[in-house]
Amino acid sequence: MVFLPRQESFTCEHCGASVEVLLNGSYRNHCPTCLYSKHVDEKGPGDRQSLCLGLMKPLRIDQHSKKGWMIVHLCTVCQKEMRNRSAPDDEIVGFMQRESERFARVNPKD
Ligand SMILES: [Zn+2]
Ligand SMILES: [Zn+2]
Repeated sequence: MVFLPRQESFTCEHCGASVEVLLNGSYRNHCPTCLYSKHVDEKGPGDRQSLCLGLMKPLRIDQHSKKGWMIVHLCTVCQKEMRNRSAPDDEIVGFMQRESERFARVNPKD
């Protein structure tokens, strides 16, 4: 019997998508569709030490020279910021498009 720790599918609390586990062995804690996450880790990815369990909103995407795309999450409950490595099937482009559209709306040209 194969036991994979911390691999569980879940339903996204933001958009309701059902999120399947990644098959390449790395675990994920955020929704690939809307990129929302949940505040379950306290000090680092996967420690599951947080008692907050607040919804974490994707703030921005950073590019890390070694780790690739990093999603910066902000907890909507305790305001903690966490960085997470993105997964290959994350909708990074869609997120950036939504962000730039939002930016264009709040900062209209003239
Ligand atoms: Zn979602
Ligand atoms: Zn929190």
